[in-house]
Amino acid sequence: MGSPTLTPLPMRGRRTVLAALLAVLVFGLHAAPGTAASAPGRVVPVRLPGAIGTAEVALPGWYRQGNNPPLPLVVWLGSVPVPAQRLAARGDFVLLGVRADTGAAQLAVLPGRLARALPWLRIARHRVYAVGSGEAAEAILRLAAGSPGALAGAAVSDLSVNRSSRLHLSLSLASNRASLQLWRAREGSGALFRATRRFNPRAPVAEGIGTLSDERTAEAALLAFGLLPLGDPPPTPAPSELTAVSGGAGCASRPTARSYPWPLAPVDRPHPVRGNFGDPRTVFGLTLPADPTGGGRFSFHSGVDISAREGEPVYPVASGIAERQGPNRVIVREPAGRSFLYDHLRATVRDGARVTASSTVIGRVTRVEHVHLSEYGVDGRAHNPLEPGHLTPYRDATPPRVTALRIRARKGRIVVTVAAHDLPALPAPGLWAGLPVTPARVGVTLTRMEDGKIVLEQPLADFESLALPESFWATYARGTYQNFPVVGLHYFAGTPGRYLFRTTLQTRPLISGSYAVTVTARDVCGNLDSRSRTVDLVGRPRPVPARKLGRWPASITAYTVVLASLPVSLGRREAVNLARRAVVAGVPRVGVLRTSRFPNLTRGFFVVFSGVHPTAESAAAAARPLGPRYASAYVRLVAAPRSQNGG
Ligand SMILES: [Zn+2]
Repeated sequence: MGSPTLTPLPMRGRRTVLAALLAVLVFGLHAAPGTAASAPGRVVPVRLPGAIGTAEVALPGWYRQGNNPPLPLVVWLGSVPVPAQRLAARGDFVLLGVRADTGAAQLAVLPGRLARALPWLRIARHRVYAVGSGEAAEAILRLAAGSPGALAGAAVSDLSVNRSSRLHLSLSLASNRASLQLWRAREGSGALFRATRRFNPRAPVAEGIGTLSDERTAEAALLAFGLLPLGDPPPTPAPSELTAVSGGAGCASRPTARSYPWPLAPVDRPHPVRGNFGDPRTVFGLTLPADPTGGGRFSFHSGVDISAREGEPVYPVASGIAERQGPNRVIVREPAGRSFLYDHLRATVRDGARVTASSTVIGRVTRVEHVHLSEYGVDGRAHNPLEPGHLTPYRDATPPRVTALRIRARKGRIVVTVAAHDLPALPAPGLWAGLPVTPARVGVTLTRMEDGKIVLEQPLADFESLALPESFWATYARGTYQNFPVVGLHYFAGTPGRYLFRTTLQTRPLISGSYAVTVTARDVCGNLDSRSRTVDLVGRPRPVPARKLGRWPASITAYTVVLASLPVSLGRREAVNLARRAVVAGVPRVGVLRTSRFPNLTRGFFVVFSGVHPTAESAAAAARPLGPRYASAYVRLVAAPRSQNGG
């Protein structure tokens, strides 16, 4: 893209969805009622044969005869809590609420009975989930353990089983294929989870903290089954926002002594980079991405992911000694001290081999269709391989985007939250096409509107190099997740990542007035995008310019206009400030006097006065134009002071 500003970016279908997802941040994960993308859900009472009796079915609002694709079914044991119905409206699934004492045998035949009762309702039989707590929890787990294939997943909370049942149950759950969520109170033991994992460390069991009658837990449970989308519809942009996109010159960097070629052929041509240095790597436990307190693994991507075809040879970018780290990872150490890490390849190089840049084949690309490259400097830090002068040649003409900006003014500070992303300089192929990467830098400035002066400048993220220890949630804000996010046991294939950044600006030292908050995202080549919004701050009062103040003339008794009287306890400074402001406002002959020096005045005050008049009438005439500004000004006789000193 060239240099013109405000040029729209090329948009594709996926980009639109992506932008929508990215923009969600402004209102968080919970949409207000009525703002959900889908129509509200609808509830249908249904009479099921057998002992189950009357039950309730909640459906997506759009679902009806004639438009009835097979949908996943969630059987909720126990009266369906209202939030669960509200959640049902947000995803495309059927929610069936049945009595809590429905046993495992009845539970197994429920989908069939439901299909008979409502023939137009089609259930995706391989996507039946059961949710319940307490007494119902055990029945659900017995069904999952005893009837392979009956359930795609189960979520239970408040489970209590005795020791011997637990052993039996854990043994059968260990070989179960359904995706299991065991929710427990914070104080719970987690014994069933531990026992199941002991029998099979790879059993598809996840543990979470919470009870399913709680709305957020229910939401996290359905999200981790992949039944709810990760994002909400985008908010409408604020009309007062200004945006400016500018294309940089691109990276016209020439090779230097420290630059290195690409690890794939042709080594002297750029390849698509589908994962940037600094990208978030998030694997959430059973938790909502906006609330990662439920645990997980969070880190910064410490290199670049270069798209490639399976089987392609991987070459070292610098000569040195190869070190095998398992079957898929090779490190090559330069004699000069830098080292390069190649990951996800099928390593073919011998451990300890001397390898030559762009010549020795160290391995081949695997089915993940990319090679990961990290550069470590002599300082041991991971450096951004895309910074000019590193991986060469590299050109990038697509600017990053700041897609949302939220400002919350607090007493003495402003909290700024930003959604920003970039797209690879060369489009990534396959499933990764159109997915975002992180900008290289995101920063915020605060500009005083009256003189255009930048009074604060603060980074939100800077991915030139990663310093350890890495503080993930201090850089990325809650609600951030990676491309293809993982929550619990569910992999949201194809879901674009969302990159949020947050910082707090300390505004206490600033004077009151209008300011512009400008967030700028930048790539390594200097392409940038910014978004601004104005904010009115109540800070320190505006300083009063020093002005010469008058004194009461020696041995004169005369009339004056009293603008204000301040108790001495407030200090002379306050009185002087008041007087200076009066001077600035154009009040003539302003001065400050201390009443203790004047025989006819009450002791203990500073008086801000204007003018020295021979008569009460002339003083009153002078007071009249001050009316609008100094409504309480009055005329006063001041007797000649006791002495000229002090005051
Ligand atoms: Zn990687």
